[in-house]
Amino acid sequence: MRKQLRRVLLLKGIKSSLVLDALEEIPRHFFLDKAFEEHAYDDKAFRIGAGQTISQPFTVAFQTELLQIKRNDKVLEIGTGSGYQSCVLAECGARVYSVERQRLLHDTATRLIKDLNYNIKTFYGDGYLGLPSYAPFDKVIVTAGAPFIPPALIDQLKIGGILVIPDGEGDEKIMKTILKISDTETEIKEHGKFRFVPLLEDKAGK
Ligand code: SAH
Repeated sequence: MRKQLRRVLLLKGIKSSLVLDALEEIPRHFFLDKAFEEHAYDDKAFRIGAGQTISQPFTVAFQTELLQIKRNDKVLEIGTGSGYQSCVLAECGARVYSVERQRLLHDTATRLIKDLNYNIKTFYGDGYLGLPSYAPFDKVIVTAGAPFIPPALIDQLKIGGILVIPDGEGDEKIMKTILKISDTETEIKEHGKFRFVPLLEDKAGK
């Protein structure tokens, strides 16, 4: 089923063999509810509790490809969710730091990541703030729809680093890459429309 998923992603335009290999390797059925297990390798998002979703494999692959991961890149992820995207990044050779604001999801993903033997650091906290004490990062990925680009995430990027973020007003977000050229300059590119659960600012959901 994972080989079939690889073919689907290739047909949809994912080119990086590093990314395709990672998605072929990772047992996505562990990251979603048993009720959806037989559909784990469909190219679809699923509910994971606390009103959140595990992103569609195409979206995971697309965002990962935009990050252009190099071995040992230090990567900050905002929105651990199920932990699936974190494991894809780790499988690509990144050192992953992932932040989640829902306690239950943070706890469940932390346990699963450990059981699968991935060396990923997970944090319970507010992604708008990033992780100042672990900065700077080579790459930053936001896996929830943001109403704007949080300035802390650009601050915590190295010069030459890339932030991948779905951002914009309303339900449909524009996938953007922000290349940090200097402390004051960025180059922003747009990569089409995507739907995401929202990046939440207040802590009411806890
Ligand atoms: N990367 C996840 C996708 C999860 S959906 C996966 O592979 O499963 C987006 C996640 O972002 C949700 O779990 C949601 O709780 C989290 N989130 C929303 N706002 C956040 C914030 N301000 N800080 C950190 N995480 C946030």
